[in-house]
Amino acid sequence: LTSRLPEVGTTIFTVMSALAAEHGAVNLGQGFPDFDCDPALPAQVSQAMADGLNQYPPMAGIPALRQAVADKIAALYGRRYDAEREITITAGATQAILTAILAVVHPGDEVIVLDPCYDSYVPNIALAGGVAVRVPLAMPDFRPDLAAIARAITPRTRALIINSPHNPSATVWTRAELDGLADLLAPTEVLLISDEVYEHMVYDGRPHLSASGHPGLAPRAFVVSSFGKTFHVTGWKVGTVAAPSALTAEFRKVHQFNVFTVNTPMQHGLARHLADPRPYRELPAFYQAKRDLFRAGLADTRLRLLQSEGSYFQCVDYSAVSSLGEIDFCRWLTTEIGVTAIPLSAFYRDGRDQGLARLCYAKRDETLRQALTRLARL
Ligand code: PMP
Ligand code: GLN
Repeated sequence: LTSRLPEVGTTIFTVMSALAAEHGAVNLGQGFPDFDCDPALPAQVSQAMADGLNQYPPMAGIPALRQAVADKIAALYGRRYDAEREITITAGATQAILTAILAVVHPGDEVIVLDPCYDSYVPNIALAGGVAVRVPLAMPDFRPDLAAIARAITPRTRALIINSPHNPSATVWTRAELDGLADLLAPTEVLLISDEVYEHMVYDGRPHLSASGHPGLAPRAFVVSSFGKTFHVTGWKVGTVAAPSALTAEFRKVHQFNVFTVNTPMQHGLARHLADPRPYRELPAFYQAKRDLFRAGLADTRLRLLQSEGSYFQCVDYSAVSSLGEIDFCRWLTTEIGVTAIPLSAFYRDGRDQGLARLCYAKRDETLRQALTRLARL
């Protein structure tokens, strides 16, 4: 059998979570909350099930949820998508991104990703027969390098994938960066896939600047989000994609034959839950407090902190602590210190070692304190 993905093994998130469980480590590796969602949300889903809403929903998602998503985007970012023709409910952001890529990328097309990037993008591009062109984010702060993106665009470039707030570096695009991107894409037909799963986790009063709210970008963009992140239900795997009707039509051609649709009662529960904007409006303050608690504790260790402008990740430079490579360091941290992290090398094609690890602070304060007590031994 010739592998479709010869360079791919099991994702680092699965590997590190298994290692954390095996060693009883505090798992700050894979990004997920260790606290539960608002109890109103499962109650709303249970109610939908009890009401008999258990058969196939419409292929693109139930109208009430699509409308609630369109209304939220209009209220927050100022663009009014047509819920019928421009919003699709997906099986998490993962399926949204794969489906968008399969819908628009032809064999041999180039897709630009910004290195480091989320680990599904490049295998997704390969599955479409595309060629991933990796443009490095500018170091040391992981900022988008617009000049480098411009240089990477060729007549074969079909799409660019961006991600703000960024996993793993926790940077957030500025207005100038988004405007600059719009300017450089203006004379091209390059499509944009904007992964905004952490849209409600942006700190210190920064706005989240969605591609959906940018007049130069929205007409060419698939804007992807995830209820898993927004409502603390990563295991539910329900996401959204907003895109102009011509793009959505192509997206749905693929979507209907890869999942067809997404489970009914959760869509009803989510639609009801979205009626109240407070949960996502309160999210920045909720996570900023966790970030600040975590960073204050880490400041007492020999780990050097990088920025955490958004997302629920904190990257650290551990080179003052250890000369191990990143994977070995993260294993050692798990087995010897009892805290699990993700090596940044997992987000680069060449697996480079820079002495950086990613920690997730979407945890109860007591979990963060327990991790900090252990990390104080470094
Ligand atoms: N994109 C990024 C940047 C992510 O961090 C994640 C979550 N791991 C996803 C996409 C996938 O989201 P979902 O769980 O909704 O598929
Ligand atoms: N998005 C999460 C992370 O980056 C988890 C992804 C996964 O488990 N596939 O940690």
